[in-house]
Amino acid sequence: MTGSNFLFEADGKKILIDCGLTQGDNLGDDVNWGPFVYDPKEIDFLFVTHAHIDHVGRIPKLIHEGFNGKIYSTSPTKDLAGPMLDDTMGILSKNRNFDLSDIYTEKNIKSALSQWASFNYKNDLKITDNLSASFLNAGHILGSAMVLFVFNGKKILFTGDLGNSPSMLLPDTERVTDIDYLIMESVYGDRNHESRADRRKFLEATIEDNYKRKGVLIIPTFSLERSQELLFELNDLVENHRIPVMPIFLDSPLAIRLTDIFKQHKDYFNENAQRALAQDKHLFNFPGLHSTLHSSESKMINEVPNPKVIIAGSGMSSGGRVVHHERHYLPDPNNTLLLTGYQSVGTPGRLIQEGLKKVNISGEEVDVRAHIVTIWGYSGHKDSDHLLSFVENTQDTLKKVFVVMGEPKSAMFLVQKIRDNLAVNASAPQKNDVVTLQC
Ligand SMILES: [Zn+2]
Repeated sequence: MTGSNFLFEADGKKILIDCGLTQGDNLGDDVNWGPFVYDPKEIDFLFVTHAHIDHVGRIPKLIHEGFNGKIYSTSPTKDLAGPMLDDTMGILSKNRNFDLSDIYTEKNIKSALSQWASFNYKNDLKITDNLSASFLNAGHILGSAMVLFVFNGKKILFTGDLGNSPSMLLPDTERVTDIDYLIMESVYGDRNHESRADRRKFLEATIEDNYKRKGVLIIPTFSLERSQELLFELNDLVENHRIPVMPIFLDSPLAIRLTDIFKQHKDYFNENAQRALAQDKHLFNFPGLHSTLHSSESKMINEVPNPKVIIAGSGMSSGGRVVHHERHYLPDPNNTLLLTGYQSVGTPGRLIQEGLKKVNISGEEVDVRAHIVTIWGYSGHKDSDHLLSFVENTQDTLKKVFVVMGEPKSAMFLVQKIRDNLAVNASAPQKNDVVTLQC
């Protein structure tokens, strides 16, 4: 995933939107750690759309190189960003190929958080007499926002990532109808999602099958949003006696910390979740759930008799605690590995999903005899058709759409669709391109 990082200049102000890390095998590459194309000391503000690391991951570097301005986001984004940056610092510090001990420091993360102010959706922030900014709900993860700038009466909208509404927990993406210039994401610009109608039924059936076989069900998952969605669904299944009570382990320190932050921001949940909350105060907690924060607790999971469920990071089995569980449990045909969606090419998760019976997991050959199942429909991004509908809502006022943040194929496909179906001017700018808008 490419790190999101845009520079917007208007009325003498230099404003960044996001400062993300490019993720994948190349965390150490110059793409992340080479010089910025602007001078961080000259930047007045940084607006952060949401707390995913491909949107916040280079903030410590920005601080290190002299950025001293204010950072703005919604309050959940600010609260989630702390643990996300801490976690990335932990991962980077273990990498022996490159040394970021000067850049990715606790001190730089602390400075960032001290420069960081939060404000709510739709509150106007006046930057100059002619320029103001506000956040609109993007519906992607808790607190996620689009950034709307109004300059001389013209509206310029940076979408950040756009959520796959309707979501279980979040309100739908805000509908916009009066935008002049749109800078929009295109991660799924060329693909539509599988149906998610049967998702819950499939989860329930997988848990029940595993229970009957007295097996271990491992669910590798992402710590932010996906884990909380799963807990919310499991809570519903257990509380309504749809599945038997059994030990369910949330074995991810990051997911545990992030879930605590979700509990503090219930006002950012959608109406459904608010209603559920009125009946059950503990939407992410239910009989049988154990949150194993410390590694000693994690090791004890092996001692707990089957059947049991283990939810652990990372989402694609390329690191984190899930690796130990997979090595231990995948050789047993009574066990199940449940993948929640797309696995990137080259990850162990992808090889397992493709049906390989011997997979190298963090340096160890593992025989895969467990049941392998995938539940689709968990994507946090709008698909191609929904991205197009989002543009269509405001097609009458649009002067131009800039399609960004997707693989080139995906971005170009969406550009073509916007031109052909909506007759709106669209392009896919390249990295470091500069565009002047008529405002
Ligand atoms: Zn995101």
